[in-house]
Order: sequence, then C-alpha cells, then structure tokens
Amino acid sequence: MKLVMIGSGYVGLVSGVCFSEFGFTVTCVDVDADKIAMLNGGDVPIYEPGLTDMMNRNVKAGQLSFSTDLATAAKDADVIFIAVGTPSRRGDGEADLSYVFSAAREVAKHLKHGAVVVTKSTVVVGTNRKVQGIIRNERPDLDFSVVSNPEFLREGSAIEDFMRPDRVVVGVHDERGEDVMRQLYRPLNIRETPLVVSTLENAELIKYAANAFLAMKITFINEVSNLCEKTGGNVQEVAKAIGLDGRIGGKFLHAGPGFGGSCFPKDTRAFAATGERFGAPQRLIEQVIEVNETRKHEMAEKVLDALGATDGKTVAILGIAFKPNTDDVREAPSLTIIPHLQKAGVTVRAFDPEAMEPAKHHLTGVTWCKSAYEAAEGADAVVILTEWNMFRALDFAALKEIMTDQILVDLRNVYRPDEVADKGFHYVSIGRGGEERMLEQVVNG
Ligand code: NAD
Repeated sequence: MKLVMIGSGYVGLVSGVCFSEFGFTVTCVDVDADKIAMLNGGDVPIYEPGLTDMMNRNVKAGQLSFSTDLATAAKDADVIFIAVGTPSRRGDGEADLSYVFSAAREVAKHLKHGAVVVTKSTVVVGTNRKVQGIIRNERPDLDFSVVSNPEFLREGSAIEDFMRPDRVVVGVHDERGEDVMRQLYRPLNIRETPLVVSTLENAELIKYAANAFLAMKITFINEVSNLCEKTGGNVQEVAKAIGLDGRIGGKFLHAGPGFGGSCFPKDTRAFAATGERFGAPQRLIEQVIEVNETRKHEMAEKVLDALGATDGKTVAILGIAFKPNTDDVREAPSLTIIPHLQKAGVTVRAFDPEAMEPAKHHLTGVTWCKSAYEAAEGADAVVILTEWNMFRALDFAALKEIMTDQILVDLRNVYRPDEVADKGFHYVSIGRGGEERMLEQVVNG
C-alpha cells in the first residue's frame, strides 16, 4: 500500500518512518520547504531518539521519501494521513482546526477512487464528519473513506510508543476504512496489541478523554505534594503506595512543576471548550487547567523562597524542554518559571542538551550555557527543571567550587534529600521537604 503523511512534524514524521519500517511505501509531505530539504538531506529537524537511523535506513531501501508536492504524492496513494498541528485557538481555547480542514481541501483534489483519508491529528468530536463533508463537496463523485486514528505516542519515546502501543484506536464509518486500518496495523498483531475499532465520534472523544485524564492525574499528585510538604509527608511514598492499587496505577503520579508540552495544555483547553459548547461542562478539567497554571508560578516562588533576597541573585536552570529526550519547548513550565524569576530581579543562566535553540524564540535575557557546570558558574542556586539523565549524577564537589551559594532546587525529585544534604547543599524538592521537622510540628500541634 502507498501511504502519504500530510504534515511531517513530531507525529507525521515518526508515524511515516514507522509505517515505512513496517514495509509500506510512504511519502511524508510538508508545506515547510526547509523541513523537507533537511529531511531529504538525511537530517531530522526534531530531536527524537532513534529516529534518524530508522529514517535513513528506509529512505535507502526506497520505502520512504519526502516532498512538498502533495498533488504528485497523493494521486496514487491508497491511504492519506492528516497529521498537521491543531494548536489552541486564541481567546477561547478551542482547537484550531484550520490546518486540518485546509489539508483535507487540498488533498481532496488529488485523491484516487477508493482512497482512505485518516485523521491522525488530535481533533475534537465532529471533525472527521466535517472532513468527510469537505472532501465530498470538493469531489461529489469520489468514492472515499474517512477514518479517525488518534495518535498516543509520547515525544522522547515516540518510536517505541508507535511500535509497542498499549492499544491502537480507529474510528470508522465503513468496512473499507476498517479493513485498511487492520492491514496497516497488522505488524502489531505479533504483540497482540488491542485494536479498538469504534465510531468516528468515539475515537475523537477517546483521545481527548485520555489526555485530560492523564493531565488530571499529574495535577492531582501535584496537589497532594503540597499537602505532603505541609504535613511532613513524602509524596513519592504516597504516590508509590496508591499506584500499587490496580484501580489507580503507578504511572503519571510524579509530582513536578506542572504539566506542559505540545499536547496536555492545548488538549485540556480544547476538551473544556468542547464541553462548554455542548452544554456538558468538564468542570474537573477546567480546575485542572487553572491549578496547573498557578502551579508554574508557585514553583517560581519556591525558587525565590530558597534564594531569600532576590537582588543580585543568579540561578542556573538545568532543563528547558517540557520533559527529557525532546527538544520541544511548547508550553514548557520553564517558559513561565524563568520570566517569573527574571521579573523578581533574578539573573538566569540556563542549559538544556537539546532545547536551547527552540527556547531562544520564547525567552529573553537568559545566558545560554554549554553545560550544567558552565550554567552553575557564579550561581546562588541550581534548579533542576527537566530530569535529563545527565542531571542525575551531578558532581556536587565541582558545583560547590564554582557556585556562589550552595542551593539545589530539585523540581523533579531526582535526588534524595539526605544525599544532597551530605554534600553540603541546602536542598529543596517537591512534596518531601523537612519531613521530620514538619511531622513533629503536626504531632505537637
Ligand atoms: P508539529 O507542529 O510538529 O507538525 C505539524 C506539521 O504539519 C508541521 O511541520 C507543518 O509545517 C505541517 N503542516 C501544516 N499544514 C500543512 C499542510 N496543509 N500540508 C502539509 N503540511 C502541513 O505538530 P505535531 O506535534 O506533530 O502534532 C500534530 C498533531 O498530532 C496535533 O494534532 C497533535 O495534537 C497530535 N499529537 C501530537 C503528539 C506529540 O507528542 N507531539 C502526540 C499525539 C498527538
């Protein structure tokens, strides 16, 4: 089967590369000519572990190509995926579906009879019916199918997630759509991956409900961490124990500086806006959005508290990306926390192994450094914002030599309080500071 991927970003590129690895012939198309030129030169414009090798292997094998020419790519394609962005619309939080609709309008002109158009972008309920309407309007005589196939991969482990998903969800309205999707995902049968076949509407709802639930789980444990801090508890122990309950599950129970990234913030907003529009308000998710926004500022205040007076103070921020193993900074907590610190008069030095270039478009007044140690030079505090592996074994003796004061604010709970204290650092972390002292206060009233 011949596949076309419209949109060669995180999802389109990874999906295209993985489908070519399965043995399908794939053309990844994008309107961004620089991106396509880079891909044709063998370079990947994003940081995603393992992607470059797999991509170049499949290009060499003739399974994968890149183009800006949708007309040529689509004219003999059996399956056309739409994997363009669906960012938040300004003002109302609704998903901006204009890229999806314009891709549908554009590709409709070139579809052959029997083509299957699959929406992989995250789209609100009702969108696939609209895509169907757009294509039917453009080509009233065309015999085609529309399928919803939301993607659940995570940046940083995208290939693994695509190749070993917990489940694949497809929403269909006809047999051909279902047949084609079963063929496309057949390579996953060997791992007995569940293929959930449902309606277009259910597939759209499943994606948003899943992301909203995960965002809620993170926000829940973040709030629990605040209570742990006030009462002498330890959020890691609480999270571990509640996570052992099969009804709860241990994943997404890591307290931190608030969720960010290219999906959870915009998808929770779109979910809440959709609920509002249909008269079924998603009140829990509305709260999650608000609590998460506040959290990022609370984290900046936590750093300021650790510094004491702010005048003339310098912090070294380790990690800008919204999570490790990606260069994606979209709605990363760093983009709120750093300006908050700067506004309070703090000088910011920063290092991230992959995300500094994209971050430069969003942050000003930051001194960008080549390593964690360069960032820590002359700093009063080191702040771990993203838990890249390289920050898990910092040389505290070396840090002590170059820092002005020895404060470590660990917003990802990478270290144990006792081990950092032993190195002579004042240590501030999430949901487990000063357990014994606090407990004593609680017990003694
Ligand atoms: P992205 O911004 O990285 O990539 C989108 C690409 O589409 C860009 O390269 C853009 O130039 C291209 N594009 C836009 N309009 C086009 C058109 N008409 N023709 C051809 N190319 C066009 O976005 P992404 O992160 O890959 O996300 C894509 C979709 O997948 C979104 O709906 C997102 O919510 C969803 N999603 C993302 C992730 C993730 O981790 N990034 C995970 C699951 C789902």
